[in-house]
Amino acid sequence: MSQIQAPITQDVLTIPRKLPEGARNLVGLTRPQLREALIEIGTPEKQAKMRVNQLWQWLYHWGVRDFAEMTNLAKDFRARLAENFVIELPEIVSKNVSEDGTRKYLVKIAGGHEVEVVYIPETDRGTLCVSSQVGCTLTCSFCHTGTQKLVRNLTPGEIVGQIMLVRDDLDEWPAPGTGTGENGPRLLSNIVLMGMGEPLYNFEHVRDAMKIAMDGEGIALSRRRITLSTSGVVPEIARAAEEIGCMLAVSFHATTDEVRDKLVPINKRWNIETLLEALRDYPRLSNSERITFEYVMLKDVNDSDEDARRLVRLIKGIPAKINLIPFNEWPGSPYQRSDWTRIRAFADIVHKAGYASPIRTPRGEDIMAACGQLKSATERARKSRAQIAAETGS
Ligand code: SAH
Ligand code: SF4
Repeated sequence: MSQIQAPITQDVLTIPRKLPEGARNLVGLTRPQLREALIEIGTPEKQAKMRVNQLWQWLYHWGVRDFAEMTNLAKDFRARLAENFVIELPEIVSKNVSEDGTRKYLVKIAGGHEVEVVYIPETDRGTLCVSSQVGCTLTCSFCHTGTQKLVRNLTPGEIVGQIMLVRDDLDEWPAPGTGTGENGPRLLSNIVLMGMGEPLYNFEHVRDAMKIAMDGEGIALSRRRITLSTSGVVPEIARAAEEIGCMLAVSFHATTDEVRDKLVPINKRWNIETLLEALRDYPRLSNSERITFEYVMLKDVNDSDEDARRLVRLIKGIPAKINLIPFNEWPGSPYQRSDWTRIRAFADIVHKAGYASPIRTPRGEDIMAACGQLKSATERARKSRAQIAAETGS
């Protein structure tokens, strides 16, 4: 449709290509950027705000991908949009569904790189675990992603695009005529930035993508339903409070600098004390109730009663919840999961000190979708070939 309505320019006939010349992707532009882009193609400044609102709703409320379907826009304006812009999402390469309903998507982004996105359905919510980078610059010793070098940061469009793709797959865009209100509980109701990458090392792009996800006229997820997880990039924590304002989780994982240096090497740059100082300020700055401390349970490494007691002492005064994550193994991982009795004993000490201490049920383990198991399939294949070579001594 859009092609028929768009005036045919000369080079369309002569140069074979997928996209119109210089076409810019609208997905991932912030409102001010979208406004600029519309003005650049000749939209009168006085109309720009209204046009941004209209486009925004088509893109992010209705999930429409074809300018021709944007029926409240004049035909010639739609044609101009189609000449200059595209609405593009990353591409789903494969989808695996776990026995427990968890869905893992392998998603291809520009340049042929791949990231993983995981959807975890629960009775009262559905959580999407979003990636922010291809690979990671950090090298946490228990994390599969950490064994993959950083390839590149994702763009805002690639980050918000993950949410849009999964809404497509869940068939969760509102049907035309259903109004703009909430239509019952959402399948995709929560976002956790806990996929591949360190979100605070891709700050601007993550911020812009989350702003889009939170915008009330579009995807409209409340900032309280978005949790950003960081390994502890201290200088960016206050900035996240001010510029994003979502919930914060921190990959704490150890109660002494000696152990944390090994598990989360960024600790050598910003140690436990420095990190705790930044965390103390977060709830006030972001107006959120509490911080989630993530604590991966590694057998005989960080799981003693003494660790639990030290943890409680360290976080004193910080409104917190402690998420205990049973370690998820991956091929070649150098650690083992703590025994369940040990995890429960640890949880008990933390709980008795007055903190919620849920033990995270591993989800999607059968499809390697659990925390810390994510890694691009192409990388995984390469790694396992290397491993096979090492094992066979060839
Ligand atoms: N880079 C960010 C977010 C991605 S990791 C961060 O480190 O916080 C998401 C969570 O999974 C982190 O708490 C991480 O420490 C944890 N994780 C990593 N590998 C894991 C594994 N093998 N088993 C269990 N949890 C793991
Ligand atoms: Fe990167 Fe987070 Fe994995 Fe550490 S735990 S290597 S910061 S993705």
